[in-house]
Amino acid sequence: MAIEPASGAVARIDALLPQTQCTRCGYPGCEPYATAIANGSAQINQCPPGGSATIRALATLLGVPILALNPLHGVEALPTVAWIDESRCIGCARCLAPCPVDAIVGAAKFTHTVISERCTGCELCLAPCPVDCIELRPTDSKPIDASVNRERYTTHVARRYLHEQARQRILDAKKANAPRDSDSSRMS
Ligand code: SF4
Ligand code: SF4
Ligand code: SF4
Repeated sequence: MAIEPASGAVARIDALLPQTQCTRCGYPGCEPYATAIANGSAQINQCPPGGSATIRALATLLGVPILALNPLHGVEALPTVAWIDESRCIGCARCLAPCPVDAIVGAAKFTHTVISERCTGCELCLAPCPVDCIELRPTDSKPIDASVNRERYTTHVARRYLHEQARQRILDAKKANAPRDSDSSRMS
């Protein structure tokens, strides 16, 4: 499904979030969290990747007091990027779809690798890997600009949507061409 641009207060709040889509705030992405802040159902201190800078920016925008980062959502940490141990990667491709910014490249049955310049360290590729060959490593690189992350995420969602549609068309065609029970009983 293509992402509709957010409007009004949600867009202004969303513009202050890091756009890693890491879900640590308790919402399925930055914009859902922005929506929850806008409608008063979430606090401004639930985004560990943004940390105190994001909390300050949100407090200024909304005219509310600055809060400490809620530790239930994580802690502020130094930037990391994912790294794949290619000697252990089995090429299952399960890490590709969860990466919100398409920072992993590889094809089924081939080893995969991370484009570290794109990786936000969101950790979403770790759990799907069946052989635990992805780890996070510290990086000296500056955090990627939120608008770049957002653009990559929008592209990712659109691409996944097209991929799903194509897959569904193949399944539908297979179903339509499959012999029915009545066909096989007529042939016997
Ligand atoms: S970057 Fe912050 S707002 Fe975006 S999903 Fe992660 S925790 Fe939530
Ligand atoms: S490679 Fe992993 S940690 Fe890096 S952005 Fe993609 S899913 Fe997140
Ligand atoms: S999920 Fe793990 S094993 Fe599978 S392709 Fe990705 S890195 Fe390799």
